[in-house]
Amino acid sequence: MKTLDRKLQELFPEILSSLQASIRIPSVRSAAEEGAPFGREVGRALDHALCEARRLGLRTGECDGYVGWAEIGDGDEMVAVLAHLDVVPAGDGWSLPPYGAEVREGRLYGRGAMDDKGPAIGALWALHAIRSLALPLHRRIRLILGTNEESGMADIPHYLQAGGESPRFGFTPDGDFPIVAAEKGQLHIDLRGALPLPRQIGLKKLTAGTAINVVPDEAVAILSCPDETAAAKLGRVLNEDASARGISLALRGSGAEPLEVSLRGRSAHGSTPERGVNAALLLMDLLGETVDESWACRLKEVGSAFLDAPEGRKLGLAISDAPSGALTCNVGLIEGGESSFRMGLDIRHPVTADAEELLTRLRGWAQGESLHMELLRRKPPLWMPQESELIRRLQKVYREKTGQEPSLLSMGGGTYAKALPNTVAFGPRFPGDPDVVHKADEYISLDSLLRTVQIMAAAMVELAS
Ligand SMILES: [Zn+2]
Repeated sequence: MKTLDRKLQELFPEILSSLQASIRIPSVRSAAEEGAPFGREVGRALDHALCEARRLGLRTGECDGYVGWAEIGDGDEMVAVLAHLDVVPAGDGWSLPPYGAEVREGRLYGRGAMDDKGPAIGALWALHAIRSLALPLHRRIRLILGTNEESGMADIPHYLQAGGESPRFGFTPDGDFPIVAAEKGQLHIDLRGALPLPRQIGLKKLTAGTAINVVPDEAVAILSCPDETAAAKLGRVLNEDASARGISLALRGSGAEPLEVSLRGRSAHGSTPERGVNAALLLMDLLGETVDESWACRLKEVGSAFLDAPEGRKLGLAISDAPSGALTCNVGLIEGGESSFRMGLDIRHPVTADAEELLTRLRGWAQGESLHMELLRRKPPLWMPQESELIRRLQKVYREKTGQEPSLLSMGGGTYAKALPNTVAFGPRFPGDPDVVHKADEYISLDSLLRTVQIMAAAMVELAS
């Protein structure tokens, strides 16, 4: 295996320039075009990679512009590396051009450097190195290049539906090293309910949240008052109550205008709601305390089932297991008006949990609260046990290549691995490295890039032998 490492080191200047060319294509999703279902630039990034593959003499294939692949070896069975060539928009705050692919102090900067063009193009060259050394393989190795990981994941389902081959084993270098062996299951739930009509103070509008999988950092309620005196009094009471609880509140509106109440919390990812402060739940609670109306009481009561309970304990959902940890429950979206409201829940459950059982408990509670419940999305968990062949083989490679203990990780969020059977996330971020994915000044260090390519190459050979 030393020869494979050496070969990749020799190839490294070419790997780097191939990757730079890919990063210079701003492959953010845009309107579909003929042969490019996720837009022109995404299509160009796929064309570029497949051109490189053909130039290196690899077999290639494509599925309607959704997915491309490059393959080496013979045999009935195939092992896969799953990577993607689409990127999220650059966003603000860059100190270098996001599509410039500049190298500074041993780091290659650019959108996609880490997520996921570095691993994707690196894996292409790993195939080339394995082939050029004529290493013995018992299975084919296929690099599957997706183009829609960042905005809907319609790519791999399309490939599988079109009869695309599933791997015997696979890994996706689109997560963390050592190995992400467990990814929680996901339930997205919509709850709707009626609100009693007001006697004096009415709720014109209640809004919080930008996405179901984010803890809302701001919640806004617009209240209508019968007159100026009532509005002034309500404003005073809200302010007093908020400051007594240490909540930051802003009030707007004067005279006969509706009173706008906005409350700040702290955002966090929906898979780690315990790290945030949910502004929506705090506002529902505050309104229930200060506004003497039955609609406000109702909001408070429903919200109280989730307030300070990101593990779902008040609903009897607080379960956990050894491979993946505790259930989490995030109230990500709230919308309300005069006579009704709705909430969006993002629940991440442990891999060994019975999702049906959880849904039954939740339905029971919703019924008791006269809420209509709808399951919007259900993603099953992913769990590869320690003793499975895939995990054992990846662990062996990681231990040999790094000298580090290949501990198994679990995640609340889902990786690309869920898209393909028999697949787990393996790299590219090393333990302790900063998380630069989707951020300004995304980079991959040249040293990490080479090490990642060497580890991926060794893993490909290991899984294919
Ligand atoms: Zn990614």
